[in-house]
Amino acid sequence: MKITGITVYPLRTALEHPFAFSQGWVRQRSATIVEVATDAGITGWGEAFAQGLEPPAIATATIEHALTPLLLGADPRDTEVLWHRMYHSTRDYGRKGSVIAAISAIDIALWDICGKAAGLPVHRLLGGAFRDRVQAYATGFYRLSGQGEAVRLGEEALAHVAAGFRAMKVKLGYGLADDAAVMQSIGTALAGHPVTLMVDTNHAYGVADAIRLGRMLEPFNLRWYEEPVAPEHAAGYREVRRSLTMPIAGGENEHTLYGFRDFFAAGAVDIAQPDIGSAGGFTACRHIIALAQAHGVQVNPHVWGSAIAQAASLQLIAAVPVAHHSIFAEEPIFEYDRSSHPFRQQLVDEPVQQHGGWIDIPSRPGLGIEVNREVLTRYRAA
Ligand code: CA
Repeated sequence: MKITGITVYPLRTALEHPFAFSQGWVRQRSATIVEVATDAGITGWGEAFAQGLEPPAIATATIEHALTPLLLGADPRDTEVLWHRMYHSTRDYGRKGSVIAAISAIDIALWDICGKAAGLPVHRLLGGAFRDRVQAYATGFYRLSGQGEAVRLGEEALAHVAAGFRAMKVKLGYGLADDAAVMQSIGTALAGHPVTLMVDTNHAYGVADAIRLGRMLEPFNLRWYEEPVAPEHAAGYREVRRSLTMPIAGGENEHTLYGFRDFFAAGAVDIAQPDIGSAGGFTACRHIIALAQAHGVQVNPHVWGSAIAQAASLQLIAAVPVAHHSIFAEEPIFEYDRSSHPFRQQLVDEPVQQHGGWIDIPSRPGLGIEVNREVLTRYRAA
């Protein structure tokens, strides 16, 4: 089998109601979708993760100008060989960020092709499923005006409960006083409900304030505290982790085996959160999972992309072993973003849906999706 063509679809749409996380206002949703065609008539789909503030054009240019010439004519089933070819060819200007997101998109598409060619879901090619369903957690609690939204966010917590969620992640990082008010409001609203909470500041603070916030949050019995400090500050992560009792999570802004090697060696996290559309695709996530296992770190993938990234992340999470085995081991949980995303649901025939707070792992070949091409045209970025 040979790769005969690669097409990139940068997608973008304005949001009717912009929202904020601690790093800025999200005024549009975007995605970089890639289609890899073969001479066998099999097409694979992938997606480069576009962070809330990341222009999809960067990964698009990388795929078109840097990666496509390396791939045309290659056998798409040579996933490991092609990953290394892409990484080595971009090393001197890549290693992180959108370049690795571009490699991720291609790699996901190659694994989709492998699955379709074998008639198997990708998780079977990764070594099988440790679980046939995964608990979903609601990611939400974004800001619509900024500070002072504690009452509304308490009400939002109850909306997530009503939708079936029993785990949810609160966005913090809007100033310690505002964060405290929000958590108090959510805690009061959820009193009596069996809900597991996590928090995520998106690296809003330095070490001192990250620790002050963590101490304030000890009573909430958090499953994890995510991105307490900047991703490149591994020593700061370690300090936060040593100062607090709750598990520290991070890694959505880290990439490849090499980036996670340094993160783990520093003792930065209890829970690693590679994003399949950003860390380097299935191939890199396999490397990272093995490395995490060797360091006693749990892997709980991050996902905030559109429907293709979600489908890929579901295949990945099925194949993630638990880090600390026991008969009641803590299983990874699936990030289910509840913020506005106009084309996420329309992009594929069977978008990810939670039922009662759980999601079944699809067993159709490849990623298990059919892409709606009309949506690719409708939301194509200029
Ligand atoms: Ca996050």
